[in-house]
Amino acid sequence: MSTRARFRWLVMVAVLAQLAVLPAAAPATVGMEKELGEDFVSQARKGLPLIYDYEINEMVSEIGGRIVRGLGMQPFDYEFFVVRDDSINAFAVPGGKVFVHAGLISRVKSEDALAGVLAHEVAHAHAHHAVRQQQKGAAAGYAGLAGIFLALINPVLGQAALMASQAKTLEYQRDFEREADFLALEYTRRSGFDPQSMLELLRVIYDEQKINPTSIPPYFLSHPLTAERMANIEAALGRLEWERESRPVASERLLRAAAVARGTSQRRAKAVGDYEAAVSSAKAGEERLRAVEMAGVLMVHGEDYTAALAYLREAAAGGRNMDRELGRALLRLGEYGEALPLLKRAVKERPGDWNALADLGEAHYRLSDAEQAVAALEKSWELSPWRPRVAESFARALDMAGKRERGYYFLAVRAETTGRLDRALLYYRKALPGLEEGGEEWKQASSRLEQLEDAAEQLHRRPKPPVARPRELANGG
Ligand SMILES: [Zn+2]
Repeated sequence: MSTRARFRWLVMVAVLAQLAVLPAAAPATVGMEKELGEDFVSQARKGLPLIYDYEINEMVSEIGGRIVRGLGMQPFDYEFFVVRDDSINAFAVPGGKVFVHAGLISRVKSEDALAGVLAHEVAHAHAHHAVRQQQKGAAAGYAGLAGIFLALINPVLGQAALMASQAKTLEYQRDFEREADFLALEYTRRSGFDPQSMLELLRVIYDEQKINPTSIPPYFLSHPLTAERMANIEAALGRLEWERESRPVASERLLRAAAVARGTSQRRAKAVGDYEAAVSSAKAGEERLRAVEMAGVLMVHGEDYTAALAYLREAAAGGRNMDRELGRALLRLGEYGEALPLLKRAVKERPGDWNALADLGEAHYRLSDAEQAVAALEKSWELSPWRPRVAESFARALDMAGKRERGYYFLAVRAETTGRLDRALLYYRKALPGLEEGGEEWKQASSRLEQLEDAAEQLHRRPKPPVARPRELANGG
């Protein structure tokens, strides 16, 4: 194991040691579930490749939020995350933290089908299924449960937590699956979605699974899909007497979200052909414009900016609003002056778009406007922190604005989110004297520093004293 890997390992072991202090058979409480959810999220920020895209995150959170609102008063603070992974998967961590894979978003035919899957996950969390299931088994209590869920991020770490128990993975029992399905149908119907769409999605996968039993998507390892389950959902749908006027179709925002999902999680060869084929077979006019727009979105998110440019320009010339994507493509291609007005317009139109804000900040930075760069990046970070690239841009902009110590704080955050903990330790040390004492960043830096130093101590190796000027800031021009 390399030194860095050992260091990372020790930090994780330290986290587990804290978990193990809790009694193994502690009674399951809402408080424990909430804590588990929060801990999982903070590990997931570092260990899972999450997608931070304003449009895709907003869509998933809005659909999830509609379902949660239908439940009335809630003990949990429900949150929805998207994982950059092309497999069909979704899971709920106790405490209301729901994760959906990009592969599911790119395969659903309508928002209603996605709503069905999210509702099923919300039902598992709402009905405390993971906790209730473990109470019957050996993994009751915080440590056992944490192990099951941490195994989703890091199998080795999860196994370490599970050593004392028999439970290996999360596989919901038949009665909990049935309950989650029934609840999901009710939640989707109540929040105005078409409950039949979920059945259609499951039917497609179930049929594929029968033809090719080795290709079971990860989703159905934890939510086993059986003939009995299908029959139960069909029967329940009959009882709901759902009158279907028309089959839901993919909305414009779902098509864009699918293009983002495929662009970020699939290999180029797998995704680009479909979008190019759609462009060449589209009829002139609206149909072609839409196909061209989606191809442009896909390519920007697949980081093929040169190829994206022609599509984006054609879509923009046809009246589609492509400011956000066109601004990003031009920025990444080094055309800062051309990118700037587009990004300004994108932010003006949607002030909450944290991606456009980050790109705007970066454009300002490249054009040597430190003050505007810091303002835009600060806002972007407030709206959605934990993005390594934004942390780095922010650090550089702060350095340019003469606030280097605060810049070190963001370099530390970036180092942590990318698993470079020895570097994070070094940057937190350099940041601390310059942060406002008692402020949020100061508190965060102090507590992370303490944890990282403990881990470094265990390694019998103190990191070398920091060099005068870290590389990241030195070549920041
Ligand atoms: Zn399930």
